[in-house]
Amino acid sequence: MGEDKKTLCGHVEDELHVKDPQAYIKLIHPATHFCQNCGRGAAKAENVCNPKEIK
Ligand SMILES: [Zn+2]
Repeated sequence: MGEDKKTLCGHVEDELHVKDPQAYIKLIHPATHFCQNCGRGAAKAENVCNPKEIK
């Protein structure tokens, strides 16, 4: 439920990067935004809690 709406912060809490690295990589690569809260990079703005576009 709502798995695709989850931010990277939520996915990392659930250890997606450990359980399914390929799925995690799809969320972060190629990075177009980063999170101004936690510093994570993401392929989509909606995947981080406080997105800032990378230019
Ligand atoms: Zn964040």
